[in-house]
Amino acid sequence: MSTNPPQIPLFINGQLVQSNTQEWRDIVNPATQEVLARVPFATADELNAAVASAAKAFTTWKKTSIGARARIFLKYQQLIRENMKELAAILTAEQGKTLADAEGDVFRGLEVVEHAAAIGNLQLGEFANNVAGGVDTYSLLQPIGVCAGITPFNFPAMIPLWMFPMAIVTGNTFVLKPSEQDPMVTMRLVELAAEAGVPPGVLNVIHGGEAVVNGICDHPVIKAVSFVGSTRVGTHVYNRATLSGKRVQCMMGAKNHAIIMPDANKEQTLNNLLGAAFGAAGQRCMAISVAIMVGDAKNWMADLVAKSKTLKVNAGVETGTDVGPLVSQSAYSRVSSLIEKGAAEAKLELDGRTVKVVGYEKGNFVGPTIFSDVKPGMTIYEQEIFGPVLCVSFAKDIDEAIAMINKNPNGNGTAIFTQSGAAARKFQEEIDIGQVGINVPIPVPVPMFSFTGSRASKLGDLGPYGKQVIAFYTQTKTVTARWFDDSSASAGVNTTISL
Ligand code: NAD
Repeated sequence: MSTNPPQIPLFINGQLVQSNTQEWRDIVNPATQEVLARVPFATADELNAAVASAAKAFTTWKKTSIGARARIFLKYQQLIRENMKELAAILTAEQGKTLADAEGDVFRGLEVVEHAAAIGNLQLGEFANNVAGGVDTYSLLQPIGVCAGITPFNFPAMIPLWMFPMAIVTGNTFVLKPSEQDPMVTMRLVELAAEAGVPPGVLNVIHGGEAVVNGICDHPVIKAVSFVGSTRVGTHVYNRATLSGKRVQCMMGAKNHAIIMPDANKEQTLNNLLGAAFGAAGQRCMAISVAIMVGDAKNWMADLVAKSKTLKVNAGVETGTDVGPLVSQSAYSRVSSLIEKGAAEAKLELDGRTVKVVGYEKGNFVGPTIFSDVKPGMTIYEQEIFGPVLCVSFAKDIDEAIAMINKNPNGNGTAIFTQSGAAARKFQEEIDIGQVGINVPIPVPVPMFSFTGSRASKLGDLGPYGKQVIAFYTQTKTVTARWFDDSSASAGVNTTISL
């Protein structure tokens, strides 16, 4: 039965099913305020049904051959490529980012799917021959069971694809809880996964908010939880899910700094900085939100502001758009009020609140906004604004800049712009941040490496994708084996610890 607006289904045991809940939330186009669909906040019974379906599927899926698992992901990457334009269009409609950026969102997830297809070379144990006379020791990396993922609104394609492909290809089954703000592209990706051959029950989707997330944290059958989102919610998820014995990884909030050295290539640096600060309307966990101008680089302020004024603020579907709308009206209010606070704390060089977008007057638009002379202690420095707002600070030398970054509690990403190898190497060695860019503004690692945020930006030891996620989604079993030769003489009873 079709409804208007359409209702987003759950996905349980290979079937799209309508929720019985009484609690629904609108999915709204952030450029127009058009209601695109309604998403259910699923009931506890529905969560239990999704977990039960994943638990049942695990009994057979864990025994599936490596080749069979790999071939599903080979097919899946092909289907994602064939449907790229449709996926990007859904993503832009519900999230707001430009169509080109939406394709980037899908593509960075697609790279993880390609990596999953290489599982034959990834999930390998170790073998030591003759650890004692006639004794061998070897390790097996076995799947752990039902795993769950909880994802944020800002990368509704890439981040679900960080999670379920690697969990499933290592032999686990999965329950995904997408962001309630933009679950439509995630659902299309899940449908394509089923079309690629992921069997019923291996991948399930449950929608909702706090109650469903708490249900996942507490559920005795779920063995591991991967979370990406804000520091407040991630800390709660980590504490609650580890308390019930789960393996948990939480990638959380950020305040990413870039150091601009006076010897940097000015044109390239300013262009990179603007893209990293204002692209996706600043709603990236790896966005640069603080630029530290070292020494004479402070003289680049006027050019930075002038270039920022040339960026085109418009709906994500319009050609030539640089900066789309914020995801929701509440995000718009939060960012606007932080700009208001900042204007009383630092020098407001460019105010994006005045932007008008013809044809999209109701959209949640904030244009590029720049503050200068920003210092630790100010609200706009201490909080993650998650909007197109760049805070500029000044430092006399690289040591002062590094000290400022290391003092900030967050550890997600950072970058330096310089032509000096010595300065870059000093930065790489001394900076206490998990992901470091050298003339690369958003150093999100490709999938053969892992995402490695650190300090307050991460809880748990192992990051998503790359080698670390194989360890996250598997249990190491170490086997020590001796085979008796029937003709060998018995050595008798041995009560010592030796083999
Ligand atoms: P969020 O924390 O509000 O939501 C994340 C998930 O948690 C969603 O699925 C949501 O439904 C759920 N949730 C929300 N409130 C909850 C509550 N009270 N209890 C339990 N669950 C709850 O994050 P968001 O606004 O969707 O995403 C933006 C945040 O995510 C930013 O802080 C950003 O830096 C961070 N982020 C981090 C990374 C990273 O890799 N470090 C990547 C992307 C986004």
